[in-house]
Amino acid sequence: MPVETQTADSYREDLVNSGVVIKTEELAKVYEMGAEQVHALRGVNLEIRKGEYVAIMGPSGSGKSTLMNLIGCLDSPSSGKYWLAGRLVSDLDDDELAYIRNKEIGFVFQTFNLLPRATALHNVELPLIYNGTHKPNELSGGQRQRVAIARALVNTPSIVLADEPTGNLDSKTGEEIMALFENLYRQGNTIILVTHEHDIAQHAHRIIFIRDGKIASDEAVKK
Ligand code: ADP
Ligand code: MG
Repeated sequence: MPVETQTADSYREDLVNSGVVIKTEELAKVYEMGAEQVHALRGVNLEIRKGEYVAIMGPSGSGKSTLMNLIGCLDSPSSGKYWLAGRLVSDLDDDELAYIRNKEIGFVFQTFNLLPRATALHNVELPLIYNGTHKPNELSGGQRQRVAIARALVNTPSIVLADEPTGNLDSKTGEEIMALFENLYRQGNTIILVTHEHDIAQHAHRIIFIRDGKIASDEAVKK
């Protein structure tokens, strides 16, 4: 047996060496709603390599956002394992998760988490459209999403997670936003985005369908 396979679970050098930046094993999430339990994820086994461009699709309520929250270290699983950049993060506490999250992950959400009065950008260069003088609530949806993407990149993360990034944009603006993701991908970042739009998903190189909290299919996009 090779030595690597005997090392502790908490750091998997074999994953790092083979370029696997995200690995989950039987990842599950149960939300407790009073007496009721919602099984949002029911055992997700997933490997994503550094530099991949992945779209996650699936019906509403199938667990897409829950999976993104776990991948993004915003939440912990109820059971199962998750290695991020080789490190077992599924049993870290909230402070440790926050540290890893800030280091590794950039988020782009559909609803932009921008303070209305704060100037949208200070130290991020966004040559496309933004001149730094507008307040976020004066920006159009597309401009706000560009700002959200720029913000996601402030810490130069290698993994960019986007949950329905074009969800409330017209299709032209949506395509412009997708061009930004394409650039990030070309620069070597790992991109994972949730979308319910097939046209948007076609920008990715791999599409994972989630159904009832499990991966229903996982296929390369034919280019
Ligand atoms: P999707 O993003 O695919 O629409 P979600 O991951 O948001 O699905 O939700 C999966 C399931 O978990 C749904 O049944 C949803 O109602 C439930 N759920 C999501 N977040 C919570 C939460 N914070 N508390 C309780 N139930 C939740
Ligand atoms: Mg969702």
